Amino acid sequence: SGFAELGLHPLLVAHLENKMGVSKPTSIQRVAIPAFTRSSDLADRDVFIQSQTGSGKTLSFLLPIIHDLLPLSTHSYIDRSIGTLAVIIAPTRELAKQISDVLESLLTLKLRPEREPTEAENSVSYTRWLVSGLLSGGATKTHEKARLRKGIPILVATPGRLLDHLQNTSSLNVGKCRWLVLDEADLLMELGFEKTIQGIIQGLDGRRRLAMQAVKEGKSLEVGGWDWERRRRTILCSATIREDVQKLAGTALVNPIMITA
Ligand code: AMP
Repeated sequence: SGFAELGLHPLLVAHLENKMGVSKPTSIQRVAIPAFTRSSDLADRDVFIQSQTGSGKTLSFLLPIIHDLLPLSTHSYIDRSIGTLAVIIAPTRELAKQISDVLESLLTLKLRPEREPTEAENSVSYTRWLVSGLLSGGATKTHEKARLRKGIPILVATPGRLLDHLQNTSSLNVGKCRWLVLDEADLLMELGFEKTIQGIIQGLDGRRRLAMQAVKEGKSLEVGGWDWERRRRTILCSATIREDVQKLAGTALVNPIMITA
């Protein structure tokens, strides 16, 4: 059976098959993806994915995130000021770059709008709204700030640089972030990023409180039928469930679904 049976958006399934040559889900993808795509009592839960590198875990979190954000692209003309809706944290620059490369090929996906954009909407570059960006300290901070200010719906980052921007710049617009991924959590712990991750979570929570207040007061962009106020879901991936990883899971995840394959 293929990706369509896992509940993914047909545009995404077609893109995977035709453009990326990926048609048969791996065992972790078969178990993990429905936990995100099927609307049920699992719909709001955090997820712990235990699997080895090479198992296809990257697509098992990237596909559900894109699936979640697609309606925003197909049903509404929106601008980048919505900011970042998903933050993916990887322990090293190399790992962040790998995730970012997969994301970029997924996001060459062509979306068909439900109606033609007005001239004003066209000027906010509707077609390329769903883009990704990499924040890993590879560029100067000034350069990163400029890119962040334009708005990056899906952001891949290394922990230190992300926390730096959260604490020291106002360029990072994450108040409406609805996904947080902690990839390779075992390596995040080995590299000593526990405090940094805690700082990031606090930073995201703080920005979110402000953004949700603005939504309540009607000061925020309206997008019909979009559940801005859904709680942020966190996905943690790890090859092991060592004690230190469980400790991180304890602070980052609320009542998680455990997925192993
Ligand atoms: P990962 O475990 O996410 O690092 O993925 C390992 C490798 O498997 C990557 O090169 C992916 O492109 C590839 N891959 C992931 N899922 C599939 C799939 N369903 N079919 C074929 N290749 C896949």
